[in-house]
Amino acid sequence: MKYRIHGGRLIAENGILEKDLLISEGKIEEIIGREALSSPDYRVIDASELFVSAGFVDIHQHGGGGSDYMDGSPEDYVNATEAHLRHGTTSVMPTLLSAGTDALLRAIKNYKLAKKDPRVRANLLGIHVEGPYISPEQAGAQKPEHIRAFDEAEYRAILKAADGNIKRWSVAPELEGAERFAKVAREEGFALSIAHSNADFDTVVRAFDMGYRHVTHLYSATSSIVRRGGFRVAGVLEAAYFIDDMNVEIIADGCHLPLNLLAYVAKFKKTSTVALITDAMRAAGQNVSESFLGSREDPLPVIVEDGVAKMVDKSGFAGSVATADRLVRNMVACGVSLPDAIRMMTVNPLKMMNLDVKKSELKVGYDADICIFNDDIQMQKVLVDGKIVIGEKV
Ligand SMILES: [Zn+2]
Repeated sequence: MKYRIHGGRLIAENGILEKDLLISEGKIEEIIGREALSSPDYRVIDASELFVSAGFVDIHQHGGGGSDYMDGSPEDYVNATEAHLRHGTTSVMPTLLSAGTDALLRAIKNYKLAKKDPRVRANLLGIHVEGPYISPEQAGAQKPEHIRAFDEAEYRAILKAADGNIKRWSVAPELEGAERFAKVAREEGFALSIAHSNADFDTVVRAFDMGYRHVTHLYSATSSIVRRGGFRVAGVLEAAYFIDDMNVEIIADGCHLPLNLLAYVAKFKKTSTVALITDAMRAAGQNVSESFLGSREDPLPVIVEDGVAKMVDKSGFAGSVATADRLVRNMVACGVSLPDAIRMMTVNPLKMMNLDVKKSELKVGYDADICIFNDDIQMQKVLVDGKIVIGEKV
């Protein structure tokens, strides 16, 4: 199928273009003037009054639509990815949380099945493992009984079973064995991320040099200034700002980080080093007040209120129920330009993961993963590989 997306405002690399987009064989074929003629083979998608951007990329997502990527079947991938596709997420890194070895191996097996399943219409970019080698002091909503020290035999077995499908691993770099793990990451080619970490400033600076170039959900389960015997010790948070090229991802749901803090991150970090993530749990895209974190076999009950998942005692948050459109809306609401907010939801996260794909930029030859939305960032149409998957067909 060939399409011409006509009359929209394209959010491209150099700002907003009033041009048309030609799509053929799943790729962006050409960007042409609105008045330029094209052959009648192209079906016209009317994008008048609408924005056209690359498809959204969520590199930290646990689930949605009632399913979690720790659940056991490809149907769960269908549920979760479809729930987010409706809100513009065309590419996702399914995220596994701290669990026993067997549960992780099962989840990896399921990822491989889902990857081959044609019912999963979003792009699966690779697995993100979050934990289990994290700090017990910064557990957040990860179950304490599943948190452990680096275990080389275990992570090698997991990597072997994953067969190249793990593209990112979030760990605490202050744990013994973090340097060895970084070496393995270089060999295996997955991105390293600092997560659920109680590291001090100097440890993060050293970790950056070892290859830990990304901070998982900045502010959530990240250490900051503490006083030890009166002396101040800075943490992950300060180092993330201090190191210019440290990439950060933020749960821009307006709950985990309020709008003023989102504006603060956008002001003090270079745009290219900021990614928006949902960190969504299974209740995203559902209208429920009770849910649970993790797999059905090993659930952590949570409540959903005020647009966020909370621990049942309401002592803290337990993952977000956000979708990508809400993240973009919040960034715009706190003063970030729409093109910059879109960059944080498309090309930035993709580049941070060092993936060898041609996606999520409106460029000729790139995969035609496209979002078409109104001024309120509400999706009118979503395309994956040049096919309309959300919104009316033309
Ligand atoms: Zn997470």
